[in-house]
Amino acid sequence: MSIEQPHVVIVGAGISGIASAIALKRNLGFTNVTIYEKSTGIGGTWRTSTYPGCASDIPCHLYSLSSDLNPDWPSHFATQPQILSYWESLYRKHGLEPHTKFQTSVHEAEWDADRQLWRITLKDERTGEVMKEVVEACFMIYGLGGFMAPKYPKGISVEDIEKFKGDVWHSAEWRHDVDLKNKRVAVVGNGCSGAQIVPALSLDATTKVTNFIRSPQWLVPMNQFQYSSSMKWIFRRVPLVMRWYRNAILARADIEFLVFRKKNKKLRELALKGLTSYIKSVAPASLWDKLIPDYPVGAKQIIVDPKYLESLGRPNVELQTEPIDCVIENGIKLKNGEVVEVDVIVFATGYSLEPTNLRIRGLNGKTIREYFDEHGGPTAYLGGNFPGFPNLSYIIGANAATGHASLLFNMEAQIQLAVQLTAPILRSFQGPQRSGLHSLTIKEDVTDSYNTWLQSRIAGSVWPECGESYYYVDGTSRTKNIAMFPGPAALFWWLARKPRWGDWVAFGERGKRLNRSGLWRGIGLMDKDVVLGMKALAVLLVIGAVFVARTSAASSL
Ligand SMILES: Cc1cc2nc3c(=O)[nH]c(=O)nc-3n(C[C@H](O)[C@H](O)[C@H](O)COP(=O)(O)OP(=O)(O)OC[C@H]3O[C@@H](n4cnc5c(N)ncnc54)[C@H](O)[C@@H]3O)c2cc1C
Repeated sequence: MSIEQPHVVIVGAGISGIASAIALKRNLGFTNVTIYEKSTGIGGTWRTSTYPGCASDIPCHLYSLSSDLNPDWPSHFATQPQILSYWESLYRKHGLEPHTKFQTSVHEAEWDADRQLWRITLKDERTGEVMKEVVEACFMIYGLGGFMAPKYPKGISVEDIEKFKGDVWHSAEWRHDVDLKNKRVAVVGNGCSGAQIVPALSLDATTKVTNFIRSPQWLVPMNQFQYSSSMKWIFRRVPLVMRWYRNAILARADIEFLVFRKKNKKLRELALKGLTSYIKSVAPASLWDKLIPDYPVGAKQIIVDPKYLESLGRPNVELQTEPIDCVIENGIKLKNGEVVEVDVIVFATGYSLEPTNLRIRGLNGKTIREYFDEHGGPTAYLGGNFPGFPNLSYIIGANAATGHASLLFNMEAQIQLAVQLTAPILRSFQGPQRSGLHSLTIKEDVTDSYNTWLQSRIAGSVWPECGESYYYVDGTSRTKNIAMFPGPAALFWWLARKPRWGDWVAFGERGKRLNRSGLWRGIGLMDKDVVLGMKALAVLLVIGAVFVARTSAASSL
């Protein structure tokens, strides 16, 4: 017995959920999709992150959906409201409203091997009740994002924070009701969010900002600029120019990846010199010692500088590098016993990457949590598939991010793979009797050897040299790196561009294993993006070769 109509469930209406629904519609013409969204609106992190200065640190032409490029981006980097409005317009354009159920979260999902489908339990977020009705789907796409929950500094407990008499919040949950004029504000953290918040808050000279940092960051100049109306006109009228421009941004970003490889010593030295002199050229000289990191460039995320360094020179900004001991009633107590009195504390201390509430049970009743535990933390094939969990794609799971290029680019690569996996399964619903291929699951040995390759490449990168970093399971490089893909974004795209069908196990009716056959052929998704992507790769290789040749020539002088 099986469901009569194919139904695909997407979990989350963030940008990966929306992009997945659009891809299913565009590439397969498939519309029997339901998006379950826990909150009241779309956009995920781009909806909830509303702190002052919030913006993308990837040029927006690259941080756009390849199928729906936007000629009208006003500037090179876009702000949070501009990004959210772009995704809201795509959501409307592709008619996704009728497919979305808000305030409804996916509580649990269980694979029914006999019926070859997912049985999904939902939760009504308005009442907090788990619904009795069970939804069935032949394929599930999880779009929960990489950032699972706001994280607070190690050693600072919720009880600690509650002792504080003033207002306190995490950057992910900005309190717009609190006026910060004439207030003393502690901003804890100098990662991407902290570096955006400090310059934005300190624009008001009446707000006294103290930035507490654990370790300094490497920063690169932002190079923000506005697009002229003639440039936008060209992008609109000659879309190929806009695509070429986008691919050139990717190629340029992918060259930066070379800095992450341990063996590229000359290039790394060059980057170290360049970024050190950038810090010295912008930050006050009195702070250089505190601001120049002692770890290699790229070992932690490189921050695209939104005038953070410059803002540290403002009279209303203070940098505090003494470690925090605890939060007390009237401020923050430092390890040296000193107390910094403040009225407001903002924790810009990032997110946990560990998906703690994933209740997914695959073949033989195994949960994803159990699978992760057996492998020392989140582990996946191409960041999105797990052996023993058929017909499931998880967008931006383990090791799917790049520290230098757009996450959306990798998401799209994974979504293209998911769509191609879905295609033969949907085809089995054609005709009076459901026959042929019902499910696909990635092979265990394929996943293991992919991860062995991945972790050995990580060992040859600069990331293990960071000491403490959110890229690792417990925040230190002694554990497993669960965040980074150790290659250029173009390589990730190349690996995910189409399924290697021999790497997948196929099952037919009642979970009978199928031998490889034409039943599960691909859908031939060689669309224009793939072709353009290949051109981008070629451009990348040429530019990379020229760049490396010039660098070696310069350093041998
Ligand atoms: C401040 C900030 C700036 C960033 N800047 C960049 C950048 O410049 N470049 C870049 O590449 N990346 C950036 N990122 C990373 C960014 O998160 C991703 O690029 C992307 O937005 C992730 O989208 P997503 O849809 O996968 O996940 P999310 O945006 O996290 O969306 C997940 C959605 O799933 C919903 N959900 C969760 N659990 C359930 C459930 N059980 N059932 C139903 N729904 C559920 C959530 O409510 C949410 O709406 C930034 C992130 C932040 C926070």
